Amino acid sequence: MTGNALNPEVHVVGGGLAGSEAAWQLAERGHSVVIHEMRPVRPTPAHKTSRLAELVCSNTFKSTEPTNAHGLLKAEMRLLGSVILWAADQARVPGGSALAVDRELFAQAVTERVLSHPRVRVVREEVSSLPSPGIVATGPLTSDALAEAIRARLGVASLAFYDAIAPVIARESIDDSVVFRASRYGKETMDGAGDEGAYLNCPCTREQYEAFLDALGAADQYHGHEFDEVPYFEGCMPVEVMAQRGRDVLRFGPLKPVGLRDPRTGRAAWAVAQLRQEDRAGRMWNLVGFQTRLRIPEQQRVFRMIPGLADAEFLRYGSIHRNSYVNSPAALSPHLALRDDPLTLFAGQITGVEGYTESSATGLVAGINLARLLAGDEPVLPPPTTMLGALYRYLREADPRHFQPMNANFGLVDDLPERVRDKRRKRELIAERALTDLETWREAHAVAGAAP
Ligand SMILES: Cc1cc2nc3c(=O)[nH]c(=O)nc-3n(C[C@H](O)[C@H](O)[C@H](O)COP(=O)(O)OP(=O)(O)OC[C@H]3O[C@@H](n4cnc5c(N)ncnc54)[C@H](O)[C@@H]3O)c2cc1C
Repeated sequence: MTGNALNPEVHVVGGGLAGSEAAWQLAERGHSVVIHEMRPVRPTPAHKTSRLAELVCSNTFKSTEPTNAHGLLKAEMRLLGSVILWAADQARVPGGSALAVDRELFAQAVTERVLSHPRVRVVREEVSSLPSPGIVATGPLTSDALAEAIRARLGVASLAFYDAIAPVIARESIDDSVVFRASRYGKETMDGAGDEGAYLNCPCTREQYEAFLDALGAADQYHGHEFDEVPYFEGCMPVEVMAQRGRDVLRFGPLKPVGLRDPRTGRAAWAVAQLRQEDRAGRMWNLVGFQTRLRIPEQQRVFRMIPGLADAEFLRYGSIHRNSYVNSPAALSPHLALRDDPLTLFAGQITGVEGYTESSATGLVAGINLARLLAGDEPVLPPPTTMLGALYRYLREADPRHFQPMNANFGLVDDLPERVRDKRRKRELIAERALTDLETWREAHAVAGAAP
């Protein structure tokens, strides 16, 4: 079962969601795969068992409806023969429109299915160097030794350890009659940028600022796992912690009004919250400096008090937790390989995607692409009209200076050519187009998609 000179063994480091999916895809394409999983020899702060694909927190893969971004991503993965979704179906428990699973049965199903494949074996060891040919899928809790090796290979700035994620808001949900465009002091350093100003600014009166502070102070916060207690450093401080330090702290921090004059009044506001463009198409805007541990309904309630955001649609919620991830747009190739070795690919949360489904999805694509490369073919990526392709586009094209992990959302996907006012109908059309385009892509590149 071991490889030979013509068909070397392929190494998948990390037997989590992405690694298990990648190993399955490679094995199904005829490759002998070694999964290197360090549990139980070396535990992580979150995993409790030695099973493959253990779910460390919630037991849901979110929506199954294609008109939901996570639902669409799953529909695409099913077209490509995902073993993770096969196992989720085996372990499904009632969860409304969500794909909720019994976590024990789920991990057991993945472990048994993947390890019973005649071309897959597992070695229980911590890996401290990058595999080639192979896939690094060691997740948000990548061990220190491997993290060090990745940093050394990619450059120190290329591996972040903590996520301080600010919410991302859909552009179309921001009220243009309230916000104004401007850069602080009119400065813009990017070549080719227009002179209208890079930021969307939400001007607050003193009363609005005070009411916002009160709501922020009283809001319910998420208290994560004990291990997840983050030693906050400046620049990664939750907005609610900053607010507790004094009533003017935010006015001298993320809500500072200096250098920003509302062109409609000609005056500076008492405080200004800023949104910065997150994607090239300008559909996703980051609420700058609003990394937070507020619970999701509280983020909706409190941040919608900011002038201009009353109807804000959250494409991603803020959070803070331990997370090792590569600055993919700065450091990796479009198919998420080392730039100096295309046979070392990355998959899962370490690439800067966020979530169970997204991590599994990148494992699936990495498995397909490493198999193609080993067969002498070019790697391929689905088009950005699909959720999968759109996620990869984000990992390729996001601004490396502000790169933050991303979950599946409709802000990533190409707009429809025509304007559709009804939101539900629009999502139906996007989903239909995505699945048609993925099928066409699959056929064009002879990507097999048989269900496990
Ligand atoms: C505390 C916490 C809670 C989370 N809650 C949720 C949630 O509720 N919903 C959600 O969608 N996402 C959640 N996430 C994100 C979640 O971790 C990812 O979505 C998903 O598990 C990532 O899959 P992965 O395959 O990339 O990594 P993992 O599933 O973490 O798999 C990585 C594997 O690599 C192994 N490994 C690490 N280093 C080495 C090494 N050097 N050598 C060999 N093996 C190694 C680990 O033991 C692990 O098995 C949470 C993350 C954390 C840390």
